[in-house]
Amino acid sequence: MADYVVYGNLNCPFSYALYELLSCQNLLQNVEWRVVEHPSESGSYLRSAESMSELASDIFNIRNSSPGVTISLPLSLSDSLFPSLCVIAAQRNAPERASLFLSNLYRALWIKGKDIASPSAIFHALEEAGITEELETDAICEETLLRWQTEWEHGNFGLRTPAILATDGRRMVGLLNPQTVHEFMQGADVLPGTITSSSRYQERMTIALLGEDPITELWPILSSLRDENNILLPQSLAALQEMLLSDERCPDLVLLHNTEQYANLIDLCRSTSHLTREKQIPLAIIGPTITDADEVSLYDMGVADYLLQQRNISIIQARINILLQLKRAHDMLARAASIDTLTQVYNRREFERCFETEWRRGQRSRQPISIILIDIDHFKAYNDNLGHLNGDNCLRQIATTIKDSARRTQDLVCRFGGEEFIILLPETDQAGAETLAEHIRQQIVELDIRHSPDFKDQPVTISLGVASTLSSQKGGSPKNLLDQADNALYKAKKQGRNRTEVYNEER
Ligand code: GH3
Ligand code: MG
Ligand code: MG
Repeated sequence: MADYVVYGNLNCPFSYALYELLSCQNLLQNVEWRVVEHPSESGSYLRSAESMSELASDIFNIRNSSPGVTISLPLSLSDSLFPSLCVIAAQRNAPERASLFLSNLYRALWIKGKDIASPSAIFHALEEAGITEELETDAICEETLLRWQTEWEHGNFGLRTPAILATDGRRMVGLLNPQTVHEFMQGADVLPGTITSSSRYQERMTIALLGEDPITELWPILSSLRDENNILLPQSLAALQEMLLSDERCPDLVLLHNTEQYANLIDLCRSTSHLTREKQIPLAIIGPTITDADEVSLYDMGVADYLLQQRNISIIQARINILLQLKRAHDMLARAASIDTLTQVYNRREFERCFETEWRRGQRSRQPISIILIDIDHFKAYNDNLGHLNGDNCLRQIATTIKDSARRTQDLVCRFGGEEFIILLPETDQAGAETLAEHIRQQIVELDIRHSPDFKDQPVTISLGVASTLSSQKGGSPKNLLDQADNALYKAKKQGRNRTEVYNEER
């Protein structure tokens, strides 16, 4: 296994420069390079004059800080999704040549200014790497990309690339000067406050617009918004309501077009605002001039802004951006409130919220749901002998290991309290949960954290209680399932600790 994982992006000049630095220091063999993407990928440097000048200044910065790296400003950036999938396919099918292929792609873009999404550029990069077999970018590649993507997005890198994670937990975010990179790769920590350069990606926000079909009148506004946002156009009020109720397609802003078609704007707002309020999504209206009294009653109903359609597009866009910024800030706060600050896994409140939601989802889908309750063994003795600071470090290490082991996107790892963790496993049956629990137990043993002297030669271990059910069957409840996992955990403790027990009805 590689000692370092790097999350890097083909379109990020700092990732390219890091690749070159590691390559000329002969350090790539210790590195697993995971390409990441972003929904707003092609917008990471929007092809506006302003963003291209930002990119130019990044390149200037790299030339200064890493004079050994050859880099020039490409005319534009391409959509890196397909080339990223090709890299993953190469890593799978031609592992010994994949690194050369990646290097060729990086150089094609960052030295020669090629469009690396084009088949000819990819073909050349493959050919130069000596990869002759046909590469298939199949669903497995897509899954891999999604998994790496999730790791990176949830890895507390502030959505920055490149990011390096060492197996011993050290991390480096952004590009540092060659000397510091070298020292980091030799085992040194990056000192807090060290200046780094990185590309930061902001998620594209989604705007749902309900208006007349066709939306000719709003077309110029829409096309300017489309540069930076995804636009959804529900065909009816019912379709919009359905979007607001779904988790996956829920927009970040709802825009209602005030047209003749909706004779009663107030009614339309009323049928939307209860949903937008519940989901904390801003609701704005765009249309012709209305009376002050009408406008005030809209605000009373929770409408965030009334945008005059005849005004200059840049004003409408600026006001929409303010609403989106508020939504972003709200999302960030909500996320911060769901994370445990010590261990950076989700907190108990988030567990309870998701447990309820997943329980209900399981009732509809008739899929099983499982939980694993985890408790560190003899942790009081660890703290008493080695001190609370070491205790905290130990908790952090264990949390990270648990998080790294539960890899499916739906799996939710939470700190349940003190030295207890809980994993919520939607759509997972008992056998699956038990396998995962045993895997985690083993991983913790392998971490080999030295226990206090009272436990000579024994590493820190955990005990695990597993419980599974079909929430669609009558009689169960989330609380019941939790009690069952607790029973199983109690049994694991009684039977000698460092073991997994599964709750069984019969016993
Ligand atoms: P058992 O194997 O039966 O679980 O024994 P135990 O010692 O782990 O269990 P007990 O419940 O007696 O002790 C839990 C200890 O966990 C108490 C406290 O010292 C420690 N602990 C709980 N929360 C924290 C924390 O946030 N930081 C640190 N350092 N220690 C904590
Ligand atoms: Mg406990
Ligand atoms: Mg304990």
